[in-house]
Amino acid sequence: MEAVLSASLATLETEDLRRRLRSGGPQSPADDGLLNFASNDYLGLATEPFLIEAATEALARHGTGSGASRLVSGNLAPHEDLENALAQWKHTEAALAFSSGYATALGTIPALVGPGDVVILDKLCHACIIDGARLSGAILRIFPHNQVDRLESHLQWARERHPEARILVATESVFSMDGDLAPLLDIVELKDRFGAWLLLDEAHGAGVFGETGGGLAEALGVSSRVEVSMGTLSKALGCSGGYICGARTLIDWLLNRARSFVFSTAPPPANAACAAAAVRWMTTPEATARRARLQGHLELFHKLRPEVTRPESAIIPWILGSSAAALSASRALQDSGMLVPAIRYPTVPKGRARLRITLSAAHTPKQITRLADALTAPCA
Ligand SMILES: *Cc1c(COP(=O)(O)O)cnc(C)c1O
Repeated sequence: MEAVLSASLATLETEDLRRRLRSGGPQSPADDGLLNFASNDYLGLATEPFLIEAATEALARHGTGSGASRLVSGNLAPHEDLENALAQWKHTEAALAFSSGYATALGTIPALVGPGDVVILDKLCHACIIDGARLSGAILRIFPHNQVDRLESHLQWARERHPEARILVATESVFSMDGDLAPLLDIVELKDRFGAWLLLDEAHGAGVFGETGGGLAEALGVSSRVEVSMGTLSKALGCSGGYICGARTLIDWLLNRARSFVFSTAPPPANAACAAAAVRWMTTPEATARRARLQGHLELFHKLRPEVTRPESAIIPWILGSSAAALSASRALQDSGMLVPAIRYPTVPKGRARLRITLSAAHTPKQITRLADALTAPCA
């Protein structure tokens, strides 16, 4: 086995596609040892004292592990508290928490559609949505990134050819590697017109968009038209885990049929407790202030590097083309004390390798300026 795998690794190496773990990565976005422009901790919550306190308290009260799946004996008070907080935040009847965002998609999509049904995805959807769709056994249709006319023709095709099928449209609100937004109003109109369901992954939208940080759907006033509202607790919320918010019947169905929920031990209670605290914090004036601070940083970056189109989210793609160019730009930044990861195939298409810059409210304007000044490689 080792000879076979070594050869495969060597191939990755020659293609500049081999990945390695970094040791001791900076946690805080504003860590001065190595300034972190790689984290998805957009509001700087991961090191927030009140969240650490919530986790510590739950740890002391409930212990380290949950002991069993939620349906067996692992359903502890913090899990229910988290789900109540999520439903209240997203204005839905109910919510269900999973151990990760990845597990959320992997469990949810196959619970909703199966062979004979149709799943329609944006080309740039996250791996967990693609994997969930494949696992479901449903017919898979992909539309070019954000092209709603192509989505429409897939919907038309699905309705004509499979009149009895369930049709699920899945997209992200904020695309994880490009930072651009889905044309959500058009998508909602279309899926309603064809009687399809929408799964909206707000992994990078929640916490950042909307008056209470509910996400892009909240910002555009279409939350109530999204059947399956998905998100992660591991990005702007600074904790870990994933969730679905929606109708009570949807949640009741998922807790019966989402295999990544049913057959997995409940997340640690401490984790649920700090996530619940993070969710409740999202509607506070302090959260609004942090979102405004993040927007200010994005404005500043755009002012300093106007060759990049105005960032629509906290994610700024600095496209360089080849994997080698992206790696060398990332190394140069690291030598100047900044962590900006090179994102390569298969995370992004071949020839579209890039630096993926993420800004956080935890940064200072001075740090944003330092980054903008240090980016020497031209953005393609
Ligand atoms: C990160 C991410 C996920 C996965 O969430 P985790 O909690 O990290 O497993 C899902 N969807 C998108 C779009 C993501 O960027």
